[in-house]
Amino acid sequence: MQFQDQTLECQECGNEFVWDKSEQAYFAKKGFKEAPRRCRACRAKKKQEQKAEEAKEKEITCKICGKKSIITQDLAPDEETICFDCYIKKSPAA
Ligand SMILES: [Zn+2]
Ligand SMILES: [Zn+2]
Repeated sequence: MQFQDQTLECQECGNEFVWDKSEQAYFAKKGFKEAPRRCRACRAKKKQEQKAEEAKEKEITCKICGKKSIITQDLAPDEETICFDCYIKKSPAA
């Protein structure tokens, strides 16, 4: 199968982007039948947003009190493994 670079319009930002041969080959390999609707930048952004959504809720074992807890806050990396209660205690209200 031969692939040709295609110029497509991103449905997200409206910019034109090139869907190149290697990407088409990748899509074909994955069995995707349709061309991408978004440019690389918008797809990367979407991916990040999805990741952020998933990252919003996760179960952790608190390293301070040992309780299992679902954290829904965007905590700093070194505070990811403490529960919300301990997080509040640790950060005095300003
Ligand atoms: Zn775009
Ligand atoms: Zn805790």
